[in-house]
Amino acid sequence: MVIRLEELLEDFLDMTTQSAEHATVPHRLLEDFLGRCVEKLKALAISVMNQWPSLKLRVVDGWIENVRPGYPNDSLHYEGRAVDITTSDRDRSKIGMLARLAVEAGFDWVYYETKAHIHCSVKSESSQGARTGGCFTNEGTVTVESGGRKKLSDVRLGDRVLSYDTGSDKLVYSEVIMFLDRDTTDRKQFLRLGLSGGQVLTVTPQHLVMRNKPNGTDQDVEAVFAAHLNPSDQLLVAESNGTKLVRRTLLSSELVLDTGVIAPLTSVGTIVVDDVVASCYAVIESQSIAHFAFAPLRAIKSVEAGLGAVGRFFASPFSSSPTNATSGLATNAVSDDVNGVHWYPKTLYFLSNHFIPSYLLYDQ
Ligand SMILES: [Zn+2]
Repeated sequence: MVIRLEELLEDFLDMTTQSAEHATVPHRLLEDFLGRCVEKLKALAISVMNQWPSLKLRVVDGWIENVRPGYPNDSLHYEGRAVDITTSDRDRSKIGMLARLAVEAGFDWVYYETKAHIHCSVKSESSQGARTGGCFTNEGTVTVESGGRKKLSDVRLGDRVLSYDTGSDKLVYSEVIMFLDRDTTDRKQFLRLGLSGGQVLTVTPQHLVMRNKPNGTDQDVEAVFAAHLNPSDQLLVAESNGTKLVRRTLLSSELVLDTGVIAPLTSVGTIVVDDVVASCYAVIESQSIAHFAFAPLRAIKSVEAGLGAVGRFFASPFSSSPTNATSGLATNAVSDDVNGVHWYPKTLYFLSNHFIPSYLLYDQ
């Protein structure tokens, strides 16, 4: 369902194989060749097509497995962290703009390696960092209990928003208890999911979305990575102003670049965004394990009043130390200058890489 990289790139198969049997080159080879840059390269490929509709991104070199003359021994190409690129028309006058797009796409290092191509690379932490990115865009909307809708960028701690109770299979209102991630200026790659009822949900590929288990009954609901959804999957949708829970068929899924990374956590662990039921979690493909992992935080939050400052420290967003936390105590709002990933999910994501079975983790 996710766009295949081959569709975004020019000339790729010609470079990975010397033979004429291009069609038989496995998809995996392509991803291997591009190494750890794949996600950023996809974002860049989309920008290139937006900038020059008749052109594509052309990868000159990706992951080089064997030492090659002319490359320094510590070249990031040997680690799969670098790609050399041009536009498909190989026009040198476009290199400047291409470099700018590469920076925007999130490459950590971009420079003119030769007059004919630019070299882009990612830091070693980047592939790790990408795993924490489960979120919605600024423009996504939620239904609030007091009536009406709110853009996700305007949602604040304490807001009661439409959610879904997995136990009773019912729509409920639930309090936003923290932001797992919040950066209203970040540009990222999202999947835009189109449903048969006209709903459109924009969400990162590694975010969990609720669907009916294939071949199950309406009550058999599971959380799956948006990237793992299949056409004709039945997703859960809120209609009639959040009063009616129905199932709608997934019709389309396309990769887009959009702005804002916002991941509110509600006390029930789910949230209805643009009328589609999604999990608040990402990275771990199990709603129950993810929800369980956050239980300590929810427990602390629920007795927050009794605990006073200690409880509020745990519930306050983006703090890594009690000193920082105190500055956020007075306000219930989140301002744009306190962006970032909450320290708790950060720790959790770190732990998940060590203790959660790998089949449950999002694999790029
Ligand atoms: Zn290079």
